[in-house]
Amino acid sequence: MRIGVPLETATGETRVAVTPETAKKLISQGHRLLVQSGAGVAAAASDAAYAAVGAEVVDARAALGCDLVLKVRSPSAQELEHMQRGATLVGMLNPFDAEGLQRLAAAGITAFALEAAPRTTRAQSMDVLSSQANIAGYKAVIIAADRYQKFFPMLMTAAGTVKAARVVILGVGVAGLQAIATAKRLGAVIEASDVRPSVKEQVESLGAKFIDVPYETADEKDAAEGVGGYARPMPESWLTRQRAEVAKRVALADVVISTALIPGRPAPKLVSAEMVQSMRPGSVIVDLAAANGGNCALTVPGQTAVQHGVTIVGETNLPALVAADASALYARNVLDFLKLICPKEAAAVNVPLDDDIVAACLMSRNGQITRRST
Ligand code: NAD
Repeated sequence: MRIGVPLETATGETRVAVTPETAKKLISQGHRLLVQSGAGVAAAASDAAYAAVGAEVVDARAALGCDLVLKVRSPSAQELEHMQRGATLVGMLNPFDAEGLQRLAAAGITAFALEAAPRTTRAQSMDVLSSQANIAGYKAVIIAADRYQKFFPMLMTAAGTVKAARVVILGVGVAGLQAIATAKRLGAVIEASDVRPSVKEQVESLGAKFIDVPYETADEKDAAEGVGGYARPMPESWLTRQRAEVAKRVALADVVISTALIPGRPAPKLVSAEMVQSMRPGSVIVDLAAANGGNCALTVPGQTAVQHGVTIVGETNLPALVAADASALYARNVLDFLKLICPKEAAAVNVPLDDDIVAACLMSRNGQITRRST
């Protein structure tokens, strides 16, 4: 089968869906790999590295014109024009982007959005949300440490003692856990909040303190259990108490990393303008939810702004700032997913709908949107 790997064209996107490592594996399975010239350059994978493993370096039209196209982000309207009706596309296509999915369906594309894979053990090796969130959580702390004009660790020196930075993490999914682990390695003192009760143990096992907001009603407890491991919107009663607890911690924090998300909805607002104002000048907020509207009321998506002396980082694509490793992990996720739809030396893609992962990821086929509601 001809497999195409185009250069990503979305602004700021540096990742690539196939690395020389995974290209080599696909070629060894009997496929032809057509990689657009420059596709991997921003992720430290040169055209020569792809050619060395047997890939063909081609132009955009040839890469997009393949039977199977592997991408990071959804194709633009212009890219879609170069794709063939009936071609298969695998990428992070945003299952909640109804318009985008409609475009793919109208173009006759069989489209798989990897973000829609279930959070099950079998799907773990192709879980792009986890592989990329892990990187985002790490990079958020590195950016915070860079912007913060003080040390993270406590230091006792001949010139005096420096206090450890106080870091508050809001939302402890995959990104939040990695943010805790990274801040801990740098020597910070960490507190973390999440709606899901199961998180407390994980937070404590990483050496951070959990900000407990007890559930007072059956409704609150029920909502906190979430669905499929994901959070659901919490009742206002609990959110009010959470805000009060978080406000006390944020006022004392040097760094806040916020990662709270609810799939398919705007990010919950956890840090108000007043809370920002209560922070010491020089403090830093890195808002990982910026692309979904932000957890902080003063976040400007895509920008870094200083408000009331506090630096608020609204970077919307943190994994793209760690392009080589983000691509390496994403490419392995893609390779593992291909085992389900594209067996060795297959001449065409299979769509085994009895496979729960394939069925969940399938967004469009035969001109129709096939996305299952989540
Ligand atoms: P996510 O990115 O959807 O959300 C980030 C975090 O924000 C979540 O922990 C969520 O509970 C939290 N949150 C939402 N509203 C909040 C609020 N008002 N205040 C504080 N926190 C709030 O989460 P994710 O990283 O994608 O992880 C989702 C779930 O999937 C987790 O339970 C994770 O353990 C699970 N998971 C399972 C597998 C697997 O079994 N294969 C793999 C990865 C993740």
